[in-house]
Amino acid sequence: MCPGYDRGVAPEARPDERLPDWIAGHRRVFALTGAGCSTASGIPDYRDDRGEWKRRPPVMIQAFRAEPATYQRYWARAYAGWPRFTAAAPGAAHRAFAAWEAAGTLARLVTQNVDGLHQRAGSRAVIDLHGRLDDVVCLGCGDRTSRDGLQATMADANPTWEARSAAAPDGDADIDAAAVAAFTAPRCARCGGLLKPDVVFFGENVPGPRYEAARDALAGADALLVAGSSLMVYSGFRFVRQAHEAGLPIAIVNRGRTRGDELAELKVEGDVGAILTHAVSSVAG
Ligand SMILES: [Zn+2]
Repeated sequence: MCPGYDRGVAPEARPDERLPDWIAGHRRVFALTGAGCSTASGIPDYRDDRGEWKRRPPVMIQAFRAEPATYQRYWARAYAGWPRFTAAAPGAAHRAFAAWEAAGTLARLVTQNVDGLHQRAGSRAVIDLHGRLDDVVCLGCGDRTSRDGLQATMADANPTWEARSAAAPDGDADIDAAAVAAFTAPRCARCGGLLKPDVVFFGENVPGPRYEAARDALAGADALLVAGSSLMVYSGFRFVRQAHEAGLPIAIVNRGRTRGDELAELKVEGDVGAILTHAVSSVAG
């Protein structure tokens, strides 16, 4: 869970009226969301309040493709982390965005999260910028399968495998080296190729058409709101820069500093779910 969750003055005790006013003042908002929207659902974040890594950085695509040990470790951890990941339910932030979209003034939601929780909360106008963890793609033949199906395949291939684990970001889990070494990693049933969840790994680019769809949505927006992201990843930050260059008003809700703070006209610090729930009540409710 988010380590800063109970620290300091609870922002929900002193609701900030600037954000409700800001939301009520725009008709076609483009929202960008990140891990801070899902931490309350039990999915940990990679970074701390200062935007620094709080744990070992995630696997890079180059190592995933080239190093069998990295591939094996990735899938052992992903296998162990999957039950906890799929048990996560939408939280207050997800529900607030769904209510805002239903109210008609949230035009598009672009999320850096790969958990599908916005959709499960009822949001429809969503672009999963970094893909979805529940789809798997073969790097050899391009065959697509469901992550749930692959979980069952991995269980069959590892009937006695067990590991103590602790939750980590993106459906990952921390497990010991001996357990990793004993794990049989999956391969494509059609061609024997490497399998990868259909998410953008570190070191990879967002697919062009997906980026262009998000960029076009931003071009039609009258304001940008960022929620729960430190904006340390360029694929998200570039929308803030584009909005700034286009003269769009920018608001940021996050616990801790972000790379976009200097470009925002409004920055609200604290618990994203509580702040958005209150703010969205200005247009939905
Ligand atoms: Zn294949």
